[in-house]
Amino acid sequence: MQKGAIRVQTENIFPIIKKFLYSDHEIFIRELVSNAVDATQKLKTLASAGEFNGELGDLSIEVSVDKEKKTITIADHGIGMTGEEVDKYINQVAFSGAEEFLKKYKGQENGTNIIGHFGLGFYSSFMVSSKVEIFSRSWKPDAEAVRWECDGSPEYTIETTEKAERGTSIVMHINEESEEFLEDGRIRNILEKFCKFLPIPIKFEGNQINNTSPAWTKKPSDLTNEDYQNFYKELYPFAEAPLFWIHLNVDYPFNLTGILYFPKITKSYELQKDKINLYSNQVYVTDEVKDIVPEFLMLLHGVIDSPDIPLNVSRSYLQGDPNVKKINGYITRKVADKLDEIFRNDRKSFEEKWDSIGLFVKYGMMTDDKFLEKANKFIVLEDVDGGQFYTLQEYRDAASALQTNKDNKLVILYATNPVQQDSYIQAAKAKGYKVIKMETLVDAAFINNMEMKWENTAFTRVDADIADNLIDKNENDTTVLSKEQEGALKELFTSQVTQPNIKVELKGLTADAQPVIVTRPEFMRRMKDMAAMGGGAMNW
Ligand code: ADP
Ligand code: MG
Repeated sequence: MQKGAIRVQTENIFPIIKKFLYSDHEIFIRELVSNAVDATQKLKTLASAGEFNGELGDLSIEVSVDKEKKTITIADHGIGMTGEEVDKYINQVAFSGAEEFLKKYKGQENGTNIIGHFGLGFYSSFMVSSKVEIFSRSWKPDAEAVRWECDGSPEYTIETTEKAERGTSIVMHINEESEEFLEDGRIRNILEKFCKFLPIPIKFEGNQINNTSPAWTKKPSDLTNEDYQNFYKELYPFAEAPLFWIHLNVDYPFNLTGILYFPKITKSYELQKDKINLYSNQVYVTDEVKDIVPEFLMLLHGVIDSPDIPLNVSRSYLQGDPNVKKINGYITRKVADKLDEIFRNDRKSFEEKWDSIGLFVKYGMMTDDKFLEKANKFIVLEDVDGGQFYTLQEYRDAASALQTNKDNKLVILYATNPVQQDSYIQAAKAKGYKVIKMETLVDAAFINNMEMKWENTAFTRVDADIADNLIDKNENDTTVLSKEQEGALKELFTSQVTQPNIKVELKGLTADAQPVIVTRPEFMRRMKDMAAMGGGAMNW
């Protein structure tokens, strides 16, 4: 038996490891299972290179809990380690890695600012253990099995041992404060969270818990619509079927795969963020994808997997990372291209989905100029009667002859509440105007934003005082009332209006619409709409 002391450079890191990431102790499972996966994949690589010619055998990784002994064991059949390798990789490399990691994040021990917490590695086992043992036998012919043991002080022991099978078993003796990890179901839940899509079979209590080849790792040409739908169900067993999806797949200038799903948004749908999971080489990292995914797409569902997103860095660092910026731009472009494709290939289905996708499109147009540029071609405006949709160009073509204001701008007439505003709508229609629906939460802000971004275009609500002052083609209209009747009627309505700034007019309306019109200055109404929306800020 050989004893040694791990070369501690700064100070004893073990107390810090124990304290570190207090709320996220469960990541030790991810770190150790990832190591087991790495070791197994290395063996497979050696085998395919012809360097390893033995039996691969069952390569499953087995995770087990012994409640009586208070241990958790992770056993693999990967490349294993010789005594020298344990000394090199565990006592030196892994240790200095953990040391460096902690040095970098001291002062942030609660870890909330660190993405994914990757990098603590093997030594994360000491967050939950009073003692850790490694039993390992290398794949190398004639290698002797070794046992390493460390009780959380810098001293360790290493000795030869008996171990029949190739590979490594890590035995963690769970400390008192961490006994919750021995409880029924706890480890299974953690495995399901972090290891559900790892590429090597992971077994717990004899059952495999992971899908080793999830849809996003496959070629889009090898997948059917049903495969995508099934994968969605695997991710969100209780969700309604998604509307459509985008398979992301790029290897330059960064590596990224994934599938983003557009959920169906119904009136009762609760907008939920954090439905996109970030993976790194099929290892779950986090569901906080802010900065990586553009904000207007945060309501999408699905998975993105990129080894090029730095994971042991703080949030503020992530924001400035050039790869992260590129990834954000790439996702925006792919989503715009997909929408454009559906619009061009199957406009009917695009229009049918507009209730759900309109929200994303409008918010994207407001917040991202590159997206705006593409979306200008496929945004649709729904006629107030429903069912008929105009592109911006189509609306322009259909309406510009009549609906031009004195600044020679196209005026888009819209209704926010078609039932309440029906008399105005009928009046506008009688004049040949096109009225569209703008009744969703995002519309008030969208209108204000597009007036700035769309050249030569203004919006006017159908009941605004200027709505009937467009180029008037109906000057010969006569009301059905006499002058006296008109005067009496006007007086009656005026006397009922208590708010200032409200104007009552009698107009040459057609016989099937009411002859009285009560309007409100457009700017006042907008102020009110914006206030109702919280000052124009988007609150999902
Ligand atoms: P990293 O995985 O980033 O290299 P770790 O601290 O997790 O850092 O592990 C350090 C090293 O220990 C690994 O690179 C590997 O060489 C070795 N190691 C850890 N676990 C195993 C294992 N189950 N089988 C073989 N080698 C392992
Ligand atoms: Mg590791």
